[in-house]
Amino acid sequence: MKDWSALATELYDGGFHPMLINGEWREAQSGKTIEARNPANGSLLATVPKGESADIDAAVAAARKAFEGPWSKFTPFERQALLLRIADKFEAEWETLCLSDTLDMGMPIQRTLANSRRVLGMLRFYAGQAVTIHGSTIPNSFPGEIYSSTVREPVGVVGAIIPWNAPIAGSIWKIAPAIATGCTVVLKPSEEASLTVLMIARIMQEAGLPDGVLNVVTGLGSEAGAALAEHQGVDKIVFTGSTATGQAIARAATGNLKKVSLELGGKSPVIVCKDADIEKAVPVAAMAVFANSGQICIAGSRLFVAREIHDEFVQRVATFAANLKIGQGIDADTDIGPIISARQAERIAGFLAAGPNEGAEVLTGGCIAEGDHLQGGHFIQPTVFGGVTDEMSVAREEIFGPVISALPFDTIDEVVTRANATPYGLAAGVFSTHLGTAHKLAHRLKAGSVWVNMYHAIDPAVPFGGVKMSGYGREGGTEHMEEYLDTKAIWINTD
Ligand code: NAD
Repeated sequence: MKDWSALATELYDGGFHPMLINGEWREAQSGKTIEARNPANGSLLATVPKGESADIDAAVAAARKAFEGPWSKFTPFERQALLLRIADKFEAEWETLCLSDTLDMGMPIQRTLANSRRVLGMLRFYAGQAVTIHGSTIPNSFPGEIYSSTVREPVGVVGAIIPWNAPIAGSIWKIAPAIATGCTVVLKPSEEASLTVLMIARIMQEAGLPDGVLNVVTGLGSEAGAALAEHQGVDKIVFTGSTATGQAIARAATGNLKKVSLELGGKSPVIVCKDADIEKAVPVAAMAVFANSGQICIAGSRLFVAREIHDEFVQRVATFAANLKIGQGIDADTDIGPIISARQAERIAGFLAAGPNEGAEVLTGGCIAEGDHLQGGHFIQPTVFGGVTDEMSVAREEIFGPVISALPFDTIDEVVTRANATPYGLAAGVFSTHLGTAHKLAHRLKAGSVWVNMYHAIDPAVPFGGVKMSGYGREGGTEHMEEYLDTKAIWINTD
């Protein structure tokens, strides 16, 4: 088995990692820095610049210059070739990228490594999309006199803001369609997990990405993030993060009416019907929440189970949870890694207390996880609450931690109403061996994605996103390209 800890020390030794603006690796103009600490043990990995509005100004100017300069002359085939080169370099450095992610944000290494098909697939999917952009010739009311057509143009400078829970996939999903369409990017990673994004920028630069096409400004959301969201020189904001921040960004974007797409939070239902294949459904329903320690926007955290099988099913999920191994992300057999920060762990601990206080029963977990091998980190036991009712805070609020709330139901109509009774609409899961029931539920659930007899599948070619307060816009699929393109109508008097 590979010894990741030796490689970890070589990768990050507490030194300074600059950010990328206009092809140059820079400090913040203020000279200030932020610490990047390993959430699994508290050790200092590195420091990064604490970019502020002056740095955002410089990055937006660089992105504008590149957009109007040499980058605008790149043909679709040249942009495609560039994305394919980037994909090859990613493949060659995949293990280092995954190790960086595991150290910086805690995701177990087995999970980061397993994401390669998705991330490399994204780069190659958008490489394919780059050469498919086209307009239309449209017959009008003046045949023979006026010729009308459309062309598709890149929207311009894109401001991208991402959270900490999936830095590799999160940043590639913002950058790759920009390269495919000919946009330029200013990317603000989360202050909790910037190191892998800087590594990604380095790989792209080495693959030949021209100066200014991708700029990465590290810094706080309230400073660098807010400055980017309200910047008059930015044409579009693509954001992934919490619903509250998404609302602030939508408000900030009104200054120059920049376009906005938002991938936000969720409180997704998983519905287990009485005819479900219990054996197969238990581990999937459990990992629908416990993967990445519950720090997943699509977490299926409301587990609705048909009353006939409720007690048995929920008990089996609890037993599965109790057997998950909690540990450092770089240990190859870890199932549950750390929570990103002390602040986030405290927030989750608040829900662990609120559940029983409001009448829920702890079937497993319910506490902060402790042990010699967890010293200095932020770990939470995978938790299953039984006896939950729809009004309890654990059934209503996004916890973003390893917590399942189990709720019994009696009829399909009832569960549809209850599952949809949330401000969110990101994802949903259905377990049933009856084709008709599965179809009915898939159509009636209000969510951007519904998985049947499975969970979590995300593919570069399939659109992903939310409805209601889980946001608007889609990532993945041809829909994603539309987010980065404008349509221009051209009229020619041929008379
Ligand atoms: P967050 O909203 O606190 O932060 C996300 C990003 O926004 C960070 O880079 C942060 O620095 C920045 N930010 C914060 N305040 C800002 C402001 N006022 N203006 C501009 N930028 C600002 O979210 P988080 O805690 O990092 O991530 C967890 C949240 O993200 C959860 O709600 C989760 O559901 C959501 N999420 C959604 C998806 C999805 O695809 N739908 C994916 C992952 C995470």
